[in-house]
Amino acid sequence: MSGSMARVRDILADRLDGMVGAVYGRDAMPPPQEGEGGEGSVMSDDEEFMGLALEEARCAAADGEVPIGAVVVLDGRVIGRGHNRPIGAADPTAHAEILALREAAGEIKNYRLPRAVLYVTVEPCPMCCGAALQARLARVVYGAPDPKAGAARSLYRLLEDSRLNHEATVTGGVRSEECAALITEFFRARR
Ligand code: ZN
Repeated sequence: MSGSMARVRDILADRLDGMVGAVYGRDAMPPPQEGEGGEGSVMSDDEEFMGLALEEARCAAADGEVPIGAVVVLDGRVIGRGHNRPIGAADPTAHAEILALREAAGEIKNYRLPRAVLYVTVEPCPMCCGAALQARLARVVYGAPDPKAGAARSLYRLLEDSRLNHEATVTGGVRSEECAALITEFFRARR
């Protein structure tokens, strides 16, 4: 993706702030807007990999967990997948990103993943941004912004803080409408 395209997506992500409510532990959200996101055009790699993260998110919903999914990609190959399961695992750290990073590190038998990219359907929380930095990821790509917990752009910019010992490139807003719709539908069905 070109720099200008990434910039456009970041702007779009910023505009979408406020569209999605808190993801963990909130019971209502406004519906997503439609018509943005470039349907009908050829999918970029980012959009393709986000599609896999969306598949994972649907697995979480099927298990009654907040539908968030993640994949880790290294040199164009998926090496880790995960979906949110803190309830089922009785584990507050069982976020999609953590599970995908754990699988990826196991796959290559290395706790550092310096060329890897994390794709996640919703903007990562502080814990998951921390894990991304620990893994030395090159890049984090997310779908819907999370104004109540997002630590990549919404509340903090943890991945781009030069005071920390690693920085990762951030791209937000990839297939954000679909990512947000999953969350909205999930909470609507539970009410
Ligand atoms: Zn998280």
